[in-house]
Amino acid sequence: MLPLHKRKHDKNIERIDYETTTVKRVKRDRSISADSDIGRFHSLVSTINLKKLNFDFKKVCSVTLSPTHVYCCLVCGKYFQGRNERSPAFVHSIDSKHHIFINMNSLEYFELPENIQIEAVDDKILKVIRYAICPTYSNDAIKEFPLECIDTYGKVYANGFIGVTDSSNNHSAFINVVLMLIGHINPIRNFFLLTDLQGENLLLQKLSILMRKIWSPHLIRNYICTDEFLDFLVINKQLQKLPKDPKIFLLWLINNLAIKSKILKQQLMLHCQGKIVIKMNNKKTIPFWNLTLDLPVFRSDFNAVPQVKIGDLLKKYDDEDSEKYTLKQLPHFLILHFNRFDAKSEFPIKNRNQTLVEFNELLTIRNTNYKLISNIIHSVKRASDVSSEPNKKDDISLWKIQVYNNNINKWFEVDGSTIKEKNPEFLFINETYLQIWEKSS
Ligand SMILES: [Zn+2]
Repeated sequence: MLPLHKRKHDKNIERIDYETTTVKRVKRDRSISADSDIGRFHSLVSTINLKKLNFDFKKVCSVTLSPTHVYCCLVCGKYFQGRNERSPAFVHSIDSKHHIFINMNSLEYFELPENIQIEAVDDKILKVIRYAICPTYSNDAIKEFPLECIDTYGKVYANGFIGVTDSSNNHSAFINVVLMLIGHINPIRNFFLLTDLQGENLLLQKLSILMRKIWSPHLIRNYICTDEFLDFLVINKQLQKLPKDPKIFLLWLINNLAIKSKILKQQLMLHCQGKIVIKMNNKKTIPFWNLTLDLPVFRSDFNAVPQVKIGDLLKKYDDEDSEKYTLKQLPHFLILHFNRFDAKSEFPIKNRNQTLVEFNELLTIRNTNYKLISNIIHSVKRASDVSSEPNKKDDISLWKIQVYNNNINKWFEVDGSTIKEKNPEFLFINETYLQIWEKSS
């Protein structure tokens, strides 16, 4: 007879409840800690390889693909299910001689194959791992953000100002930049950092984990992957039908968050929603999440890149004598959208409006002062660079976000996993697409 760990897996392996059969085996006296057996404890912890760990991906067993009772091997970073004699985690511990695991749900540590719980009490590395999976925050701590931090590779970063990418070479950049944008609206960020969302809607839970990671002062590496959140979005059929446009995704996200949480809806309305009077036909007042600014169309034989002042674009809403609109209530966080794409065009990206918008960091609308805090910008990868038939293909949109660090008064540009400082005088030399302005005194 083959030893237990060499036996062939049951065909219905996903149906086996690896957990309940083993829970009883972990008796109270079967645990180790730095106090009870310091030699064994340290030899186990010394096998942990932080650089192999990445908790940004879907937590499914690498053998059974099941998402239940998943453990991460802290030596190689792979996920395995269960911990009893037939479980993939048990087999892995024997085959690979990797013995320290964390339960991805309870965040408890175990030694396998002995199936002994490891008490994490004051060990620094074990604390870092728990924090990397789900960072926690206090009200007082977040008042000091952003902080100067160091990742496990020794790289200095500011929390909240990190790379945000995905494992498909930033293919979902139009979503990633919006996640960063939302993470820089402080009251909304604070909701996700401070609210216990266990048992709440999955969209709220997944977004909360992402926000917590973006603002973590104890990152393993100074960028995060949004894969787990993107995997969750794939199941939303309504979202899959929408164009890959940050403004459309932002409005989808805001509307869905408002539906899923009453408290968040109140916060969004209080901080991000304005009111506008529409004077055409029957005069009425409506709420808005963003103001869309139309860019002027210049003659096609115009050689230089056309430019327009942001103040001129805002006259549509800001002009006392406007026959169409009157701004009735300005929000604390004002979202501006610059309308560049014509969805009806055969090639919306090639034929976009490339007018540059002139702005600086301060703006006054109806005697209200605003300071720019986030700026999503657009550029392209030309079809001629990626296709043998460029006339039949549209260009590909690339998205970056520029964010302001008010603690050190500097701007940073996030391009996928990389981040670099930006001179504020040159922020407008891009195709700005979405901006957030915060009221200032
Ligand atoms: Zn391993």
